[in-house]
Amino acid sequence: MTRVFALWLLLVLPLLAQEGSSTSSDLDGACALIKAGGLEEHLKYLASDELEGRCSGFPGNDKASEYVAKHFEKIGLKPIVESKDGEKSYFQPFKVGGRATRNCLGFVEGTDPKLKEEIVVIGAHHDHVGKKGQPNAGRMDNPRGDKDDTIWNGADDNGSGTVTVLEIARAFMEGKVRTRRSVLFMTFSGEEFGLLGSKHYVSKPALPLAQTVAMINLDMVGRNGDKKLDVGHVATADEWTDLIQKAAEAVGLAYKTTPLTPPYSDHASFASKNIPAIHFFSGFHEDYHRQTDHWNKIDYSNMEKIGKFGLRLLVSVANLDHRMEYKGRSGPASRRKIGIRFEELGEEEAKELKLPEGQGGVRITAVSEGSVAEECGLKEGDIIVELNGKSLPAPGAQTEFRKILRGVKDNTDVPIVVLRGGKRVELTAKWEK
Ligand SMILES: [Zn+2]
Repeated sequence: MTRVFALWLLLVLPLLAQEGSSTSSDLDGACALIKAGGLEEHLKYLASDELEGRCSGFPGNDKASEYVAKHFEKIGLKPIVESKDGEKSYFQPFKVGGRATRNCLGFVEGTDPKLKEEIVVIGAHHDHVGKKGQPNAGRMDNPRGDKDDTIWNGADDNGSGTVTVLEIARAFMEGKVRTRRSVLFMTFSGEEFGLLGSKHYVSKPALPLAQTVAMINLDMVGRNGDKKLDVGHVATADEWTDLIQKAAEAVGLAYKTTPLTPPYSDHASFASKNIPAIHFFSGFHEDYHRQTDHWNKIDYSNMEKIGKFGLRLLVSVANLDHRMEYKGRSGPASRRKIGIRFEELGEEEAKELKLPEGQGGVRITAVSEGSVAEECGLKEGDIIVELNGKSLPAPGAQTEFRKILRGVKDNTDVPIVVLRGGKRVELTAKWEK
């Protein structure tokens, strides 16, 4: 032991002895540290042209993970990944399409002698879809010009979730929040190529999955500040609803919950291992996966609120008396993939489209390459109003759509009716075994 370390111990031992889990005033103070300005500062960099859209396996993405790791180090999180030279690292390397990339992990130990063996994960993916000339994991062109812009900056997707996790972590550490369970802050790479970073983590976890008790995922939390935040996948544990309500009330956040969401972000990788895992999502918008997803379109004050909400929720899960029990099934939509992202049609829009009373639809916001949806001719912008002979209700079109999808049989023709440019178009989809 060096002298400096011994002196340090003498100074901090009395403090350590008093340390327990946080009081509510500690938490209020910590929450106050999360500020819109801080979020904006991080995001201006992560979504700048210099980072070239953060495509996994390319220098812009490496710069993003470097930035995250530096931040983790600065605020005092512990590196826990065993690297080849025997040192501990913030990086967990893996490969995307043969190219090296990495997740970032920063750890803080819990205060309870027993419960500290359990881990709560909070994370967000830091990668995006890159720039022209790089492998395309979902780049879409902006229909309103701007064709000269060759960089998909991904401010909302998912610079927003990444910087919110950075600020939650900083507030946690600088605000001296201590929780009974341990907390692992993570940012993932490879999400846009199919949740590759989080899948890698759950296949090679740095800490035992059997002791990983919950996961909170932030993916796209920077837009639609006037709408309710969607907290999805809450059916993965009975406790979520209550804990979410308390945390949201404390910060005055408007939210709604979705029982199970399709496996479209990293929480799904954790849920697939029977870990209660939820997802914060502020909704799609016209810049989604386009060059125009820029930092100056983000609602930073709403994101500040989401950050405070996230910190409170994290602390309440990490201090819970009992361990949450996994309740969800791995999302039903994962078993019958259609390959679209969609959102429920609003009441006003349904009226404008002259849909009969009580009928609704889902609007397609993205179609994946090589999917059933693409094969049968579904297009972005289409509004699905009927699936397999059943019309979709309003409200509840999304839920019904997933339910019908679940009941579809292999190798049968499944009729789909969409509204495209105001006209009814009939298509046929088939799921081959
Ligand atoms: Zn994306």
